[in-house]
Amino acid sequence: MKKLVFATNNLNKIKEIKYAISDFDIIGLLDLNITEEIPETGNSLKANALQKARYIHQKTGLDCFADDTGLEIEALDGRPGVYSARYAGQESNPEKNIKKVLYELKDSDDRNARFKTVIALVIRGEEYCFEGKVEGEILKEKQGIEGFGYDPIFRPLGYDQSFAEMSLELKNEISHRGLAIKKLLKYLKTGK
Ligand code: IMP
Repeated sequence: MKKLVFATNNLNKIKEIKYAISDFDIIGLLDLNITEEIPETGNSLKANALQKARYIHQKTGLDCFADDTGLEIEALDGRPGVYSARYAGQESNPEKNIKKVLYELKDSDDRNARFKTVIALVIRGEEYCFEGKVEGEILKEKQGIEGFGYDPIFRPLGYDQSFAEMSLELKNEISHRGLAIKKLLKYLKTGK
């Protein structure tokens, strides 16, 4: 089976991707003993995804992809957006991030939000980007224990459950990352 590096140390993301991609042997950074923080200093999801994929490609010489995800909340003018990981401080703490979002939205009736993911692929020296997004709303309090990050407070449009109440299968079917992965897979299989 062809090997493809996923430039992340986030085990939740690796679990989601491995569930979605069975035709490739997905290798995480821990499998390569790479434990350092990958630089992520761009000001867009695309710039950050490309930066991470290029960094690992240069370091290992292997074909690889990276993703970057942002939660855009309408009542907060699109924040936290590209700063989703460290919204409540440098240490990137999901609990604190959720608390901050819920506090900032406490008086807001507009709960509209969307998740966006950009996956950047560096393969045979060429670069490609794939985007996925899902519309939804921010709940008043956390619901569910599955998933990670902002999942407990995000309910996708047309569903009764938050992402944290869904099976991995359903989240992958409809989520920002799931949709970007489908485009990545199509490219890997067909070259288009
Ligand atoms: P990054 O793509 O790892 O930089 O993620 C940015 C922020 O979004 C982090 O706080 C993640 O925990 C969060 N995040 C990324 N993907 C998801 C997801 O699928 N659900 C909920 N939160 C996510």
